[in-house]
Amino acid sequence: MKDNVQVTIVGSSNVDITALMNRLPGPGETVLADSYQLSPGGKGANQALAAALAGAHTEFIGAVGNDSHAQVALAQLEEAGVDLARVATVSEPTGVAIIQVDAAAENSIAVVSGANSTVTAEAVSAAGELHGILVLQGEIPASGITTAMDLATDRVVLNLAPVIELDREYLLKADPLVVNEHEAALILQQLDRSESVSTESEPVIAEKLMAHGLSSVLITLGANGCLVAQRHGEQHSLEQLPAVKVKAVDTTGAGDAFTGAVAARLAQGDSLVQAAEFAGKFAALTVQAHGAQASYPRSLENL
Ligand code: ADP
Repeated sequence: MKDNVQVTIVGSSNVDITALMNRLPGPGETVLADSYQLSPGGKGANQALAAALAGAHTEFIGAVGNDSHAQVALAQLEEAGVDLARVATVSEPTGVAIIQVDAAAENSIAVVSGANSTVTAEAVSAAGELHGILVLQGEIPASGITTAMDLATDRVVLNLAPVIELDREYLLKADPLVVNEHEAALILQQLDRSESVSTESEPVIAEKLMAHGLSSVLITLGANGCLVAQRHGEQHSLEQLPAVKVKAVDTTGAGDAFTGAVAARLAQGDSLVQAAEFAGKFAALTVQAHGAQASYPRSLENL
């Protein structure tokens, strides 16, 4: 039944509760907000939606609470045809991000992991076989990530955001590791077992990550595109792909759109460079509209 799944995402799903206000409250202070909205988020769910919209048969494995937020968290995935049969309903609440945004677009965010914290080694092994390309992020417990990697039947796309501690042998299973420039420096620090975070240029960081033995690395650089590093035997290559020039209005969820699209295209037989080129175009569409999942293109006509 699962034979046609091309991309499996094991990860987080959240509801973002965003309140818009003139200025952020200080400690102990109450301010009146102008409005609020509920929107689906969580890096796992965002990436699952992107993979599905980029044309891959996609399964999402995660957990939500037995509450009304669960429906909000999963609605877009359901509409896009993502297989949700192995999303667990647990006693913890659906994960939420409580976001306050002021008139200058400055924000403060509190994330409650809730149900996402139950996506542990036990939960992932209980879910059973994983199909197709596996995509993982840093918003579930490390034990869930490493167990999923142990069960992977195809290449693993690891977007370790936020950066959490993972054993070296698991970091090196990523193919590709997909990270922005800040995350790349933090992961290099882990692999180097260094006291300080590298301040070197992104190409140098990419080279050093590859020197640790990674098979491939994509470092996203916002409006500057991305770096693609990949191994060819003892050697590795490094090239920079430019971003599509667009007028960005909101880059929320752009990195997730990029990662999901890369996985979808790898699953459809693209090379890493081809997949990253497509993902750059896909992500560029998303930065021209507001929101995360709401900004993802529902049609591939303009790509
Ligand atoms: P993150 O949000 O994780 O830091 P980035 O900001 O690097 O991720 O964005 C991911 C990808 O989205 C980039 O590699 C690029 O392809 C695309 N992107 C992001 N911002 C822009 C932009 N202003 N113009 C065009 N493409 C963009």
